[in-house]
Amino acid sequence: MATITWVAAVTHAQLPTLGDPSEMTAAAERKLGERIVKELYRDPDYIDDAVLAEYVQSIWQPLLAAARTRGELSAELDDRFAWQVLLGKDRSINAFALPGGWLGLHLGLVSVTANRDELASVLAHELSHVTQRHISRLMSQEKKQAPWVIGAMILGALAASKSPDAANAVVAGGQAMAMQNQLNFSRDMEREADRIGFGVLTQAGFDPQGFATMFEKLQQASRLNDNGSFPYLRTHPMNTERMADMQSRNQLSPRAAPAAPDLEHALMTGRARVLSSVGTDALRSHLAEAQAMAAATPRARQASLLYAASLAAARLRDFPAAARLAERVAGVVQGDAKAARLARLLSAEVALLSGDAARAGSMVDAASNGRPELMLWTQSRLQTGRPGEAAQRLQTWVATNNRDGTAWQLLSAAYAAQGQTLRAIRADAEAQVAWLDYAAAMDRFKAAQDLMRRGGAGSDHIEASIIDTRARQVELLLREQALER
Ligand SMILES: [Zn+2]
Repeated sequence: MATITWVAAVTHAQLPTLGDPSEMTAAAERKLGERIVKELYRDPDYIDDAVLAEYVQSIWQPLLAAARTRGELSAELDDRFAWQVLLGKDRSINAFALPGGWLGLHLGLVSVTANRDELASVLAHELSHVTQRHISRLMSQEKKQAPWVIGAMILGALAASKSPDAANAVVAGGQAMAMQNQLNFSRDMEREADRIGFGVLTQAGFDPQGFATMFEKLQQASRLNDNGSFPYLRTHPMNTERMADMQSRNQLSPRAAPAAPDLEHALMTGRARVLSSVGTDALRSHLAEAQAMAAATPRARQASLLYAASLAAARLRDFPAAARLAERVAGVVQGDAKAARLARLLSAEVALLSGDAARAGSMVDAASNGRPELMLWTQSRLQTGRPGEAAQRLQTWVATNNRDGTAWQLLSAAYAAQGQTLRAIRADAEAQVAWLDYAAAMDRFKAAQDLMRRGGAGSDHIEASIIDTRARQVELLLREQALER
């Protein structure tokens, strides 16, 4: 995998020096982040799952808003940084902050959270590493290194942090870990991220208890398990001092009344467990778990197990079982609007996976502005020979969500299905831009320009002028990227 060659590159290359000895600027940190994230987008473990991504957003956006309210997030950083969470389908319990305002979140961590407050507490902590410029301070210690070398070090450390059964983690081995140690936050930084993160969490309306229970959970996990699947613990040692800090902070804040079971969260942990499962045995174990479920199993747990079993059955191509299980999910979550919507989306997803695109389309609320609905609906339109309808909705979507690479790619397929080659190539180029791969985008813009020159594009003058403009803009970005090496 690409990340391994990056690790090797660190040791063999001539290291150029950076001219500026001062702390890394926000602009430089953002560019460094882009360099890293560009590789993550190409990593097969990166996953753009519309349902999970939307759920994480529903936690992430309130945290960002709270950081703004509390003055932790300066206008400059707000404007310059990406503030995006990338999902990785790895089973390891890990979350990490990257330069430039990107966060990485492994589905393994999502799987072990008991409620949204616990997930929010991890995100709030990582968010605070970024807003407090901890990364910039770490990077300035590495100032003798060229940005691409630092980027490679971080990528190497990330590769090594994946599940131990992932082949590449074994290859990357000790060398990458040594690098990771250089890039670790100091204890003071951890304490500060705890303190600021706690404030952001409570300001955003989450139960502060989440911080403490997540802490306990991670500490317990670290005692039980040292097989390398808890990289978050290696970078965030759960020492007694941090525990004590957390407990005293918790006593100061009012303890919330026991909440109703969070069915939405329960379903999302079920989804995270299945999407991070590798191989048919792991998928079958989700089915077995649901079968072994007792009648007295709490409602949220039932919902989670049934959701996981349904999705696992669909992935095992047992579609009748998947559909039945999805219906049982709907039954269990009845009366809870958010969870009921997720159950409907699951049924539609199962229908789409089974090849019954028409039925999938009819199950999706076409009037909804939700991204999961948009993705399912447009795919069903594409698969039932109605690409024009898909293109129309996707065009509207990308007009306001121009960094949505997956939507651009669906739009490209919708154009191609209508024989609109030039537009199809341009949409594909925009997907590459969204994933920060400017070289790949330029390849496509040039192919489109070639097509225009050969007269193969008909008379789409408007599209032709858009392509020329975008090609010039991306060429500039590409040149900037090349200069930074
Ligand atoms: Zn930390």
